[in-house]
Amino acid sequence: MYCQNCGQSNPPEAVQCSACGVTLAIAAPAPPPPPAARPHVENNLVWAILSTICCCVPFGIVAIVYAARVNTKLAAGDVQGAMSDANNAKIWSWVSFGLGLVVGLLYLAAGLSDVNNY
Ligand SMILES: [Zn+2]
Repeated sequence: MYCQNCGQSNPPEAVQCSACGVTLAIAAPAPPPPPAARPHVENNLVWAILSTICCCVPFGIVAIVYAARVNTKLAAGDVQGAMSDANNAKIWSWVSFGLGLVVGLLYLAAGLSDVNNY
């Protein structure tokens, strides 16, 4: 690089000008772009657990498995996979919740019809 003070040609890695001793303005490489903020992917684990406890265990477990994979995939940089698993967790939570609701209503209906039989 050329010294901005005296015009002396210096080797590119030079820190000081070999002629006048001025500190050479190092052509700083472009600062690396800030690491892309890791997008937040809601893993829906809370819903998965709630639906498992309250509603339908088998489907809730599927939801939990998906939800648990979200953070793992996110840590591995697989944002697409994480979002996909988060979505699956949500879907299975709702399936579990919905089935729990249906079963609950069936029990309720059965109970009511029992009452009507009396
Ligand atoms: Zn110089």
